[in-house]
Amino acid sequence: MVGVNPTIPSFILHSNIFAMNPPLRVLVWGEFRHEKTNPKVGALYPDGMHEAIAAGLRGSDDVSVATTTLDEPEHGLTDDVLGNTDVLIWWGHKAHADVKDAIAKKVQQRVLEGMGLVVLHSAHVAKPFLLLMGTSCALKWRESSDKERLWNVNPSHPIAAGIGDYFELPREEMYGEPFGIPTPDELIFISWFTGGEVFRSGATWQRGHGKVFYFRPGHETYPTYYDENVLKVIANAVRWARPSLQIADVCVNAKPLEPLPEDPEADSRSEVGHI
Ligand code: ZN
Repeated sequence: MVGVNPTIPSFILHSNIFAMNPPLRVLVWGEFRHEKTNPKVGALYPDGMHEAIAAGLRGSDDVSVATTTLDEPEHGLTDDVLGNTDVLIWWGHKAHADVKDAIAKKVQQRVLEGMGLVVLHSAHVAKPFLLLMGTSCALKWRESSDKERLWNVNPSHPIAAGIGDYFELPREEMYGEPFGIPTPDELIFISWFTGGEVFRSGATWQRGHGKVFYFRPGHETYPTYYDENVLKVIANAVRWARPSLQIADVCVNAKPLEPLPEDPEADSRSEVGHI
């Protein structure tokens, strides 16, 4: 008889399908180096860029927000912390190389298992994002007097909720195409800069069971993370990236569902598993 199995399969680590919208657990990860060495950045973000980003998310009952930084033990990303994070936000720039490969790999693994990841600005070449994309993620750039106009090219997408046809940032670093990313699953924003360049500045990918969103604005010498539209997009993105299911992303040696005929070669089967 075919029926509905009421138990949760053992390979599912956690499922929100069976819970009534518990608060989304967001962790904002900041490199937190420019703020300590560049007086202009320190004045703009005295508590760190990660705290400005977190402040934009706080105040809603549906989200709990924590922050951590590169110089914390294990970069603040212990197994326990990662295991209790639904969506991770990542900002890094000058110290990508200081992120331990093993930690970057753990972040990649958690995304494959279902954790959401929001990657900001110069984190386009952060180790976890490179692992998840598998491409160079290289781009053109210029620090000058450009204005950025972000066109909303997917207005029905939840990440674009509350955003008009476009919004502008009066000063930002220019990022230009070609951007060395895999073709996005969805494109949400395209930026235009005063110098004439364009850029895919809001894009999504599914990786394993996790959702990834890249969002371009956020150069450290500008007050971008106080901009109402930028904070709205990030707030939308973390909710969009909420895991619906978290599954161990491993090979499984499966028992047959039905009895099998006798296996005449049983003794010669390889005992080497799939790693
Ligand atoms: Zn920058």
